[in-house]
Amino acid sequence: SWGSFVDKNVYDWSSEEEETDGRARPVQVLVVKDDHTFELDEAALCKILLAEEVRDREVVAISVAGAFRKGKSFLMDFMLRYMYSQASDEWLGDPDEPLTGFSWRGGSERETTGIQIWSQVFLVDKPDGSKVAVLLMDTQGTFDSQSTLRDSATVFALSTMISSMQVYNISQNVQEDDLQHLQLFTEYGRLAMEETFLKPFQSMIFLVRDWSFPYEFPYGQEGGMKFLEKRLKISENQHEELQNVRKHIHSCFTNISCFLMPHPGLKVATNPHFDGRLKEIDQEFINNLQVLVLWLLCPKNLDVKEINGSKITCRGLLEYFKAYIKIYQG
Ligand code: GDP
Ligand code: MG
Repeated sequence: SWGSFVDKNVYDWSSEEEETDGRARPVQVLVVKDDHTFELDEAALCKILLAEEVRDREVVAISVAGAFRKGKSFLMDFMLRYMYSQASDEWLGDPDEPLTGFSWRGGSERETTGIQIWSQVFLVDKPDGSKVAVLLMDTQGTFDSQSTLRDSATVFALSTMISSMQVYNISQNVQEDDLQHLQLFTEYGRLAMEETFLKPFQSMIFLVRDWSFPYEFPYGQEGGMKFLEKRLKISENQHEELQNVRKHIHSCFTNISCFLMPHPGLKVATNPHFDGRLKEIDQEFINNLQVLVLWLLCPKNLDVKEINGSKITCRGLLEYFKAYIKIYQG
């Protein structure tokens, strides 16, 4: 038992133009506009990262990144449940309770390439006695044309640079183009970072949704690691380009891992009226969801963001965010 590891309502959101009920919500801090320019909502970002209780705390920045309509918000809403439940064993909640959080606006949500941050930063006590600030980010893009691919690569690069853990959410399998996109993101990111002998990024987790070969590689993290090892293996008879993608990925991240998730069931995937209640989700999915969320978010696994070997606070992260954006704005 971790006791009460989350200080509730650390951050009380209120904004004149938008929400005034003080409830936490996703805030679009970075938008890629139709003319491919980037817009950072610096005021919103300041409000979140410079809140008195968190600004001088070391920060754990967790990003979930990937294309639209692949279940990112669905997963993040469960991550929020865990964060709000103070790690109680009952964090999954009531079988009949609809999901809320990143997906709270449902169908009316515009598909915007960019980064959303949960307005509440969570304070968590780690087993070593330190207190860290946990930031949750949703990074999304489209990959259907040359120009959107470039925009998305830039946004992914940014979120990889500012996060301590990047969860790369992909559907069904790790395809060659998923790896190529990743190479593109990390190439952009590396260019923007100072030369360093350290690997530029921290943890990368390939999260494969709707994995359908559990008899080859079982669901979860161990099966995922075996699968990924095979997928990222470099062999002599591979085309040079394929070898380079793999070398590049290995050279960028301190930790690389993989988790294989089962399909959540037909109600989740196809019913337009599905509102996220557990009762309608396949048990196999729920079991693996519990393992996944605990693995990602349990206090002892939360790694503070480091840049060039130094731990970063929320205040520091804000400065890096602004500096990185400037590079891309040219
Ligand atoms: P996002 O755009 O990546 O944030 O995707 P959403 O979380 O909004 O989910 C898009 C749709 O996929 C919704 O109808 C969800 O109910 C459904 N969904 C969520 N998780 C999964 C999953 O693991 N597999 C499948 N097949 N569908 C999912
Ligand atoms: Mg979403």
